[in-house]
Amino acid sequence: MRLLFIFLDGIGLGENDPETNPFARARMPNLNRLLEGRSLLRDAAPFQGEYASLLAVDPAVGVHGLPQSATGQAILLTGINIPAELGYHYGPKPNPEVAAYLKEATLFSRFTKEGRKAALLNAYPPRYFDGIDSGKRLYSSIPWAVINAGLPLFRHPDLFAGHALSADFTGEGWRTMLGFSEAPVMGAAQAGAKLAALAKMYDFSLFEYWASDYAGHKQQMDNAISLMETFDEVLGGLTEAWDDDGLILVTSDHGNMDDLSTRKHTAAHVPALVIGEKTARNAFTRDLKDLTDIAPAIWKTVMG
Ligand SMILES: [Zn+2]
Repeated sequence: MRLLFIFLDGIGLGENDPETNPFARARMPNLNRLLEGRSLLRDAAPFQGEYASLLAVDPAVGVHGLPQSATGQAILLTGINIPAELGYHYGPKPNPEVAAYLKEATLFSRFTKEGRKAALLNAYPPRYFDGIDSGKRLYSSIPWAVINAGLPLFRHPDLFAGHALSADFTGEGWRTMLGFSEAPVMGAAQAGAKLAALAKMYDFSLFEYWASDYAGHKQQMDNAISLMETFDEVLGGLTEAWDDDGLILVTSDHGNMDDLSTRKHTAAHVPALVIGEKTARNAFTRDLKDLTDIAPAIWKTVMG
Protein backbone atom coordinates (compact mmCIF):
# COMPACT_ATOMS: atom_id res chain seq x y z
CA MET A 1 0.00 0.00 0.00
CA ARG A 2 1.20 3.50 -0.84
CA LEU A 3 2.24 5.92 1.90
CA LEU A 4 2.71 9.68 1.84
CA PHE A 5 4.86 10.97 4.69
CA ILE A 6 4.48 14.67 5.51
CA PHE A 7 7.35 15.61 7.74
CA LEU A 8 6.75 18.76 9.80
CA ASP A 9 9.94 19.82 11.55
CA GLY A 10 9.67 20.89 15.20
CA ILE A 11 6.05 20.04 15.99
CA GLY A 12 5.27 18.60 19.41
CA LEU A 13 2.03 17.93 21.24
CA GLY A 14 2.05 20.75 23.77
CA GLU A 15 -0.14 22.24 26.45
CA ASN A 16 -3.46 23.88 25.70
CA ASP A 17 -1.97 27.31 26.43
CA PRO A 18 -2.75 30.14 23.99
CA GLU A 19 0.12 32.21 25.44
CA THR A 20 2.81 29.76 24.36
CA ASN A 21 1.33 27.24 21.94
CA PRO A 22 0.11 28.31 18.47
CA PHE A 23 -1.83 25.04 18.24
CA ALA A 24 -4.06 26.35 21.03
CA ARG A 25 -4.92 29.35 18.81
CA ALA A 26 -4.63 28.42 15.14
CA ARG A 27 -7.88 27.83 13.28
CA MET A 28 -7.49 24.36 11.78
CA PRO A 29 -10.95 23.18 10.75
CA ASN A 30 -9.72 20.36 8.52
CA LEU A 31 -7.55 18.92 11.26
CA ASN A 32 -10.40 19.34 13.76
CA ARG A 33 -12.68 17.42 11.42
CA LEU A 34 -10.17 14.56 11.07
CA LEU A 35 -9.75 14.47 14.86
CA GLU A 36 -13.49 14.84 15.45
CA GLY A 37 -13.26 18.13 17.31
CA ARG A 38 -9.77 17.81 18.78
CA SER A 39 -6.74 20.04 18.13
CA LEU A 40 -3.10 19.06 17.86
CA LEU A 41 -2.54 19.22 21.62
CA ARG A 42 -1.22 16.85 24.25
CA ASP A 43 -4.61 15.79 25.56
CA ALA A 44 -5.82 14.84 22.04
CA ALA A 45 -3.73 11.65 21.85
CA PRO A 46 -4.30 8.73 21.73
CA PHE A 47 -7.22 8.95 19.36
CA GLN A 48 -8.70 6.48 16.86
CA GLY A 49 -11.50 7.96 14.78
CA GLU A 50 -13.41 7.34 11.61
CA TYR A 51 -10.86 9.06 9.31
CA ALA A 52 -7.68 9.46 11.33
CA SER A 53 -5.64 8.23 14.28
CA LEU A 54 -3.38 10.30 16.49
CA LEU A 55 -0.68 8.91 18.75
CA ALA A 56 1.89 10.70 20.89
CA VAL A 57 5.36 9.39 20.07
CA ASP A 58 8.46 9.88 22.21
CA PRO A 59 11.31 11.48 20.22
CA ALA A 60 13.80 11.35 23.12
CA VAL A 61 14.20 7.55 22.64
CA GLY A 62 15.58 7.07 26.16
CA VAL A 63 18.59 9.33 25.64
CA HIS A 64 19.38 12.32 27.86
CA GLY A 65 18.96 15.82 26.41
CA LEU A 66 16.57 17.48 23.98
CA PRO A 67 15.99 15.67 20.68
CA GLN A 68 17.57 17.27 17.60
CA SER A 69 16.86 17.28 13.88
CA ALA A 70 19.74 15.28 12.36
CA THR A 71 19.32 12.31 14.68
CA GLY A 72 15.52 12.62 14.81
CA GLN A 73 15.15 12.58 11.03
CA ALA A 74 17.70 9.75 10.78
CA ILE A 75 15.63 7.69 13.24
CA LEU A 76 12.47 8.35 11.21
CA LEU A 77 14.24 7.11 8.06
CA THR A 78 16.01 4.08 9.57
CA GLY A 79 14.15 2.96 12.69
CA ILE A 80 17.56 2.69 14.39
CA ASN A 81 17.99 4.20 17.84
CA ILE A 82 20.95 6.29 16.70
CA PRO A 83 21.05 8.56 19.80
CA ALA A 84 21.30 5.45 22.01
CA GLU A 85 24.13 4.05 19.87
CA LEU A 86 26.02 7.35 19.77
CA GLY A 87 25.11 8.50 23.27
CA TYR A 88 23.68 11.86 22.16
CA HIS A 89 21.09 13.73 20.11
CA TYR A 90 22.61 15.78 17.31
CA GLY A 91 21.59 18.52 14.89
CA PRO A 92 20.55 20.39 12.97
CA LYS A 93 22.74 18.90 10.20
CA PRO A 94 24.25 15.41 10.48
CA ASN A 95 27.85 15.02 11.63
CA PRO A 96 29.86 12.18 9.99
CA GLU A 97 28.68 9.68 12.62
CA VAL A 98 25.00 10.40 11.95
CA ALA A 99 25.56 10.71 8.18
CA ALA A 100 26.99 7.18 8.13
CA TYR A 101 23.61 5.78 9.20
CA LEU A 102 21.96 7.42 6.19
CA LYS A 103 23.64 5.31 3.49
CA GLU A 104 22.16 1.81 3.17
CA ALA A 105 19.70 1.64 6.03
CA THR A 106 17.13 4.28 5.09
CA LEU A 107 13.63 3.74 3.76
CA PHE A 108 14.68 5.45 0.52
CA SER A 109 17.58 3.01 -0.01
CA ARG A 110 15.66 -0.05 1.07
CA PHE A 111 12.52 0.66 -0.97
CA THR A 112 14.64 1.40 -4.04
CA LYS A 113 16.51 -1.87 -3.58
CA GLU A 114 13.20 -3.73 -3.40
CA GLY A 115 12.01 -2.15 -6.64
CA ARG A 116 9.54 0.20 -4.96
CA LYS A 117 9.23 3.77 -6.20
CA ALA A 118 10.30 6.36 -3.64
CA ALA A 119 10.75 10.12 -3.83
CA LEU A 120 11.32 13.30 -1.87
CA LEU A 121 8.70 15.65 -3.32
CA ASN A 122 10.37 18.99 -2.45
CA ALA A 123 11.86 21.17 -5.17
CA TYR A 124 15.20 22.74 -4.22
CA PRO A 125 16.31 26.10 -5.65
CA PRO A 126 19.63 26.74 -7.43
CA ARG A 127 21.01 28.56 -4.38
CA TYR A 128 20.62 25.35 -2.36
CA PHE A 129 22.89 23.45 -4.74
CA ASP A 130 25.28 26.43 -4.93
CA GLY A 131 25.57 26.28 -1.15
CA ILE A 132 26.26 22.55 -1.22
CA ASP A 133 28.80 22.85 -4.06
CA SER A 134 30.69 25.67 -2.36
CA GLY A 135 30.84 23.76 0.91
CA LYS A 136 28.88 26.45 2.77
CA ARG A 137 25.87 24.24 3.24
CA LEU A 138 25.61 20.67 4.49
CA TYR A 139 22.85 18.33 3.43
CA SER A 140 20.33 17.75 6.17
CA SER A 141 19.44 14.14 6.96
CA ILE A 142 16.49 13.70 4.59
CA PRO A 143 18.07 14.91 1.30
CA TRP A 144 21.29 13.13 2.25
CA ALA A 145 19.35 9.85 2.53
CA VAL A 146 17.72 10.51 -0.86
CA ILE A 147 21.06 11.08 -2.57
CA ASN A 148 22.55 7.97 -1.01
CA ALA A 149 19.66 5.94 -2.40
CA GLY A 150 20.62 7.12 -5.89
CA LEU A 151 17.44 9.18 -6.18
CA PRO A 152 17.32 12.75 -7.53
CA LEU A 153 16.66 15.90 -5.54
CA PHE A 154 14.06 17.82 -7.54
CA ARG A 155 15.05 21.23 -8.91
CA HIS A 156 13.30 24.27 -10.34
CA PRO A 157 12.52 22.66 -13.74
CA ASP A 158 10.70 19.90 -11.84
CA LEU A 159 8.71 22.52 -9.92
CA PHE A 160 7.82 24.37 -13.12
CA ALA A 161 6.79 21.09 -14.79
CA GLY A 162 4.55 20.21 -11.83
CA HIS A 163 6.63 17.20 -10.75
CA ALA A 164 7.61 18.59 -7.35
CA LEU A 165 6.26 20.92 -4.68
CA SER A 166 7.64 24.11 -3.17
CA ALA A 167 8.89 23.91 0.43
CA ASP A 168 6.25 26.49 1.43
CA PHE A 169 3.52 24.43 -0.31
CA THR A 170 2.16 27.32 -2.42
CA GLY A 171 5.29 28.38 -4.34
CA GLU A 172 4.91 31.99 -3.20
CA GLY A 173 8.42 31.93 -1.74
CA TRP A 174 9.95 31.16 -5.14
CA ARG A 175 8.61 34.52 -6.34
CA THR A 176 9.16 36.62 -3.21
CA MET A 177 12.36 35.12 -1.78
CA LEU A 178 14.09 33.31 -4.63
CA GLY A 179 13.53 35.71 -7.53
CA PHE A 180 11.64 33.32 -9.81
CA SER A 181 8.91 35.74 -10.91
CA GLU A 182 7.40 33.12 -13.24
CA ALA A 183 7.27 30.33 -10.64
CA PRO A 184 3.93 28.54 -10.49
CA VAL A 185 1.89 29.64 -7.48
CA MET A 186 -1.15 27.82 -6.18
CA GLY A 187 -3.54 28.14 -3.30
CA ALA A 188 -2.91 26.01 -0.22
CA ALA A 189 -5.82 23.65 -0.90
CA GLN A 190 -4.63 23.27 -4.48
CA ALA A 191 -1.14 22.44 -3.16
CA GLY A 192 -2.75 19.72 -1.05
CA ALA A 193 -4.43 18.27 -4.13
CA LYS A 194 -1.08 18.46 -5.93
CA LEU A 195 0.52 16.54 -3.06
CA ALA A 196 -2.11 13.81 -3.47
CA ALA A 197 -1.47 13.64 -7.23
CA LEU A 198 2.31 13.44 -6.76
CA ALA A 199 2.02 10.80 -4.03
CA LYS A 200 0.07 8.61 -6.47
CA MET A 201 3.17 8.25 -8.61
CA TYR A 202 5.14 6.55 -5.84
CA ASP A 203 4.92 3.75 -3.31
CA PHE A 204 6.63 5.95 -0.72
CA SER A 205 6.88 9.71 -0.94
CA LEU A 206 8.00 12.28 1.59
CA PHE A 207 7.45 16.01 1.79
CA GLU A 208 9.68 17.97 4.16
CA TYR A 209 8.42 21.16 5.81
CA TRP A 210 10.99 23.02 7.89
CA ALA A 211 9.43 26.49 8.36
CA SER A 212 7.68 25.21 11.50
CA ASP A 213 10.98 24.56 13.28
CA TYR A 214 12.31 27.93 12.15
CA ALA A 215 9.25 29.78 13.51
CA GLY A 216 9.71 27.89 16.79
CA HIS A 217 13.34 28.97 17.14
CA LYS A 218 12.36 32.55 16.31
CA GLN A 219 9.44 32.42 18.78
CA GLN A 220 7.11 33.94 16.18
CA MET A 221 3.52 33.38 17.38
CA ASP A 222 1.73 35.15 14.51
CA ASN A 223 3.90 33.49 11.89
CA ALA A 224 3.49 30.08 13.54
CA ILE A 225 -0.30 30.44 13.56
CA SER A 226 -0.34 31.52 9.93
CA LEU A 227 1.92 28.62 8.87
CA MET A 228 -0.31 26.08 10.58
CA GLU A 229 -3.51 27.63 9.18
CA THR A 230 -1.98 27.34 5.71
CA PHE A 231 -0.99 23.75 6.49
CA ASP A 232 -4.59 23.07 7.51
CA GLU A 233 -5.80 24.24 4.09
CA VAL A 234 -3.21 21.97 2.48
CA LEU A 235 -4.55 19.11 4.59
CA GLY A 236 -8.08 19.92 3.42
CA GLY A 237 -7.11 19.84 -0.25
CA LEU A 238 -5.03 16.72 0.27
CA THR A 239 -7.69 14.68 2.05
CA GLU A 240 -10.34 15.74 -0.43
CA ALA A 241 -8.23 14.59 -3.37
CA TRP A 242 -6.93 11.44 -1.65
CA ASP A 243 -8.59 8.21 -2.71
CA ASP A 244 -8.61 5.56 -0.01
CA ASP A 245 -5.75 3.65 -1.55
CA GLY A 246 -3.00 4.43 0.93
CA LEU A 247 -2.05 6.11 4.16
CA ILE A 248 -1.00 9.66 4.94
CA LEU A 249 1.41 10.07 7.86
CA VAL A 250 2.14 13.44 9.47
CA THR A 251 4.85 13.41 12.10
CA SER A 252 7.89 15.27 13.39
CA ASP A 253 11.40 14.85 14.77
CA HIS A 254 10.98 16.83 18.00
CA GLY A 255 8.89 19.53 19.61
CA ASN A 256 9.66 23.23 19.21
CA MET A 257 6.75 25.31 17.92
CA ASP A 258 4.50 23.87 20.64
CA ASP A 259 6.16 26.10 23.26
CA LEU A 260 7.17 29.56 22.05
CA SER A 261 8.26 30.65 25.54
CA THR A 262 11.61 29.04 24.66
CA ARG A 263 13.89 29.26 21.62
CA LYS A 264 14.93 25.67 22.18
CA HIS A 265 13.37 22.41 21.15
CA THR A 266 10.93 20.95 23.67
CA ALA A 267 10.75 17.57 25.35
CA ALA A 268 7.16 17.09 24.15
CA HIS A 269 6.05 13.91 22.45
CA VAL A 270 5.48 14.40 18.74
CA PRO A 271 2.22 13.65 16.94
CA ALA A 272 1.89 10.62 14.68
CA LEU A 273 -1.21 11.56 12.73
CA VAL A 274 -2.28 8.78 10.38
CA ILE A 275 -5.06 9.32 7.84
CA GLY A 276 -6.65 6.61 5.72
CA GLU A 277 -8.49 3.33 5.71
CA LYS A 278 -9.14 2.03 9.23
CA THR A 279 -7.64 -1.46 9.07
CA ALA A 280 -4.37 -0.19 7.56
CA ARG A 281 -4.31 2.65 10.06
CA ASN A 282 -4.77 0.31 12.99
CA ALA A 283 -1.97 -1.93 11.72
CA PHE A 284 0.27 1.12 11.35
CA THR A 285 -0.36 2.50 14.82
CA ARG A 286 -0.48 -0.79 16.75
CA ASP A 287 3.13 -0.75 17.98
CA LEU A 288 4.00 2.95 17.86
CA LYS A 289 5.68 4.11 21.06
CA ASP A 290 8.77 6.06 20.23
CA LEU A 291 10.31 7.51 17.08
CA THR A 292 12.14 4.26 16.24
CA ASP A 293 8.80 2.48 15.64
CA ILE A 294 7.76 4.70 12.73
CA ALA A 295 10.13 3.47 9.99
CA PRO A 296 9.22 -0.22 10.58
CA ALA A 297 5.53 0.70 10.41
CA ILE A 298 6.07 2.55 7.11
CA TRP A 299 8.04 -0.42 5.76
CA LYS A 300 5.27 -2.90 6.62
CA THR A 301 2.57 -0.66 5.14
CA VAL A 302 4.35 -0.22 1.82
CA MET A 303 5.72 -3.79 1.48
CA GLY A 304 2.62 -5.48 2.95
ZN1 LIG B 1 15.45 23.08 15.37
